Amino acid sequence: MSNDEPKRLLEEMTWPEVGEALAAGRTTVVLAVGAVEQHGPHLPLLVDAARGDHLALEVARRLGDALVAPTIRLGCSEHHMAFPGTISLRRSTLEALCMDYCVSLARHGFRTVCLVPSHGGNFVPIAEMLDDLRRAVAPDCGVRAYTDLKGFLDVWVRAVEEVTGKGKLVGGHADIAESSEMLVIRPDLVKADRAEAGYVDGVDEALLERMFRDGMRRVTSNGILGDARGMSEAIGRRCLELAADAVAAALRD
Ligand SMILES: [Zn+2]
Repeated sequence: MSNDEPKRLLEEMTWPEVGEALAAGRTTVVLAVGAVEQHGPHLPLLVDAARGDHLALEVARRLGDALVAPTIRLGCSEHHMAFPGTISLRRSTLEALCMDYCVSLARHGFRTVCLVPSHGGNFVPIAEMLDDLRRAVAPDCGVRAYTDLKGFLDVWVRAVEEVTGKGKLVGGHADIAESSEMLVIRPDLVKADRAEAGYVDGVDEALLERMFRDGMRRVTSNGILGDARGMSEAIGRRCLELAADAVAAALRD
């Protein structure tokens, strides 16, 4: 990024800087909603929180002069609780957090809050709380959200297919796509030699339903959906780029 890149990270700005940004019409803010949960034997628990940080910033750049709110690091991860370390929020807790973020931001004069889940388990809760969030900040502020989980998976398949022709290895969790993204974002935390195949028989609506109902461990004993082998930085860069493009395009509409 060029040196004239404006400051975007709300947490790193002073209050006068935020005030000036708002006065200059920078009234859109992007908020990622991640997770701290198991990601197979080769990736750390922070994957979705770190990917959320990255995605929110890239989406904000694509939206022009948008700012970035501090990522909500935890999410709805009940289906990962059979794996040690996962911390899960109740839906009511996540909704309360999102509500307090949106109301605070609206009170300062932000006109558009964009919610971007970076963890599969947050898509449905966010879609279902949207009406309440919108009512709480209306009429001065609007709330938008990216809620297309299937669309997000399709982007990963497309990116991996484009770079290596191995789109079939994408399963959506700790797989070749997500592992490759982490090679770009936090390579120091990736144990590439521990990468394995997980559940590889195809992820569809029925599988997702079974996973949310019975838990991930009943579907995949190592916590991976897809296959993590074959990860690379090139795949990761393309996944990150196409995902940010898709999310920004959806939020613009
Ligand atoms: Zn993840």
